[in-house]
Amino acid sequence: MAKIMDMETKIGRRFEGKVAIVTASTQGIGFAIAERLGLEGASVVISSRKQKNVDEAVEKLKNKGLEVFGVVCHVSNAQHRKDLIQKTVDKYGKIDVIVSNAAVNPSVDPLLRTLESILDKLWEINVKATVLLLQEAAPHLQKGSSIVIISSIAGYNPQPAMAMYGVTKTALLGLTKALATEMAPVTRVNAVAPGFVPTNFAAYITKDEGVKANEEKTLLGRLGTPKDMAAAAAFLASDDACYITGETLIVAGGLPSRL
Ligand code: NAP
Repeated sequence: MAKIMDMETKIGRRFEGKVAIVTASTQGIGFAIAERLGLEGASVVISSRKQKNVDEAVEKLKNKGLEVFGVVCHVSNAQHRKDLIQKTVDKYGKIDVIVSNAAVNPSVDPLLRTLESILDKLWEINVKATVLLLQEAAPHLQKGSSIVIISSIAGYNPQPAMAMYGVTKTALLGLTKALATEMAPVTRVNAVAPGFVPTNFAAYITKDEGVKANEEKTLLGRLGTPKDMAAAAAFLASDDACYITGETLIVAGGLPSRL
């Protein structure tokens, strides 16, 4: 297996004095992004649907000496989105970075047999919630602020077993462009498109012969890690990417994506 960078020994302090919100950040990719931003000096706001998960994630990051605050936020709940933004502003006075990471994939049915209620849920959580959260956050976003949306390699080529999920991730590529246009020059908006990252959400990756088969699909010969995704998200959110907006960075070990 190819060597994975030990990032904690190499990272900088690009987010000193910055305030970052990460949605769906109590485990997996969102947690790794929150941890990375915190390690780089940000005050980080952790959130997800369940208070217990929020408390545990906050505790883990506090134990690493990070400045972290937790708010319960189911991203498709209007009051929760309002609370997430308001409680962040009440505590830290501003918002510099928002990472919109929440997504669901509730069905493996073919598109033509997917229930309307499932289609609505996919649209609500995977696409609409980002727009609504940013509507809430916009008055508080600082000049030089940055949004990172978590799309997916599946957005470039929606796969049969999760086609509508893939289509919502395709929509995020367009949403990134549209928001970048509307929010410039105050706020940059970019996306990360992860490849295969074994998490609870993507447990199918490691099922049966999954690990080897999926590793072999990549050029780099390994699955991605949440930390690989965090490094890319932190780059896009940082001033190192200050001349980049409206772009999607594919972090997929060389999986086929686009020219
Ligand atoms: P994960 O490890 O399963 O974590 C999911 C997180 O989302 C948990 O913290 C969960 O906490 C929270 N969550 C779930 N539904 C939510 C909601 N409606 N509102 C707020 N929080 C919610 O998942 P992951 O693999 O890191 O996925 C994160 C993102 O990466 C998703 O957008 C996914 O589409 C994308 N992605 C993943 C892969 C991959 O291979 N893993 C590949 C491409 C893209 P609670 O249960 O407490 O809510």
